[in-house]
Amino acid sequence: MLYNSTVMIKEELKRKLNSVEDFLFPAHSCLCCGSECDTFDGYRICSRCAPKLRKIDHNFCQKCGTLIKGDYALCLHCMDIERHFNKARSIYVYDENFAPIILKMKFGKAKSPSIAIGKMLADYFAESDLLGEVVTFVPMPTSRQKDRGYNQAEEICKQFSLLTEIPMVDTLNKQETAYKQAKLGYDERQQNIINTFSIKDKSLVKNKCVLLIDDVITTGATVSECAKVLLKAGAKQVDVLSVAHTALEYDK
Ligand SMILES: [Zn+2]
Ligand SMILES: [Zn+2]
Repeated sequence: MLYNSTVMIKEELKRKLNSVEDFLFPAHSCLCCGSECDTFDGYRICSRCAPKLRKIDHNFCQKCGTLIKGDYALCLHCMDIERHFNKARSIYVYDENFAPIILKMKFGKAKSPSIAIGKMLADYFAESDLLGEVVTFVPMPTSRQKDRGYNQAEEICKQFSLLTEIPMVDTLNKQETAYKQAKLGYDERQQNIINTFSIKDKSLVKNKCVLLIDDVITTGATVSECAKVLLKAGAKQVDVLSVAHTALEYDK
C-alpha cells in the first residue's frame, strides 16, 4: 500500500516537473532569448539571435579550434604545450551572446536544450573531417552530477549518438578537482585538472577512433586530459567536438 502510494506520488511529481520544464523551456522557444522561435532547422536559435552568434568558420587554430588573429596554423597555447587530442572543433565562439544557451543547459534543470545542441553537433560532424567510431563525453564528478541531476555533456552526447548512430560509450570517471576550474586562470587550470580522469572499461575504446564531446571548451586542458586517458587505454586517436569555445586569444 505504502509502496503503491509512493510510486503514485513520484509519478505525479514527474508529470509536474515535466510540465514546469515545458513551461520554462517550450520546445519551440529560442534558446538565447526565450521568445517563440521562427526558424525550423531544429537548432532553436531565432532569426533575431542567430546573427549575434559568432560561428567559428575561418581563422581557427588547426589543433584546438579556437579563433585566432592573423594567418597562423596554431594558437599560442597549442604552439606552447602538448595537446593529447588529434584535433578539436567547436561551432560557436563562447561569448556573452552564447552564454544564455549554456546557462539554460547547465542550471536550468532542463535537459531539453540538449536535443537542439545534439542536432547542431550532428550536422556539424557530418560536414567535418572529425572521426568517431564511438562517441563519449567529458564526465562530471559524481557528487556534482547528483546535485544537478544530469551531466549536460552526456545529454548532448546521447542526442548526438541517436542522430548519427555512432555508439555512445560511458567510460570516463572524474574525481573532484582541488579547485573549481571556472575560478582559475589558464596555467592553474592545467595543473588543477591533471590526473583527475580515469577509465572505467578499456575494451570500449581499444583500437577505436574516439570522438569526445563537451559543451564548452575554455582552455582545452580538460579535453586534453580526457584524451590522454583514452589514448592510454588503447584508443587509436581522439577527436573532440564541442558546441562553443572561448576565444581567449582573439578577444584579448
Ligand atoms: Zn532569440
Ligand atoms: Zn590551439
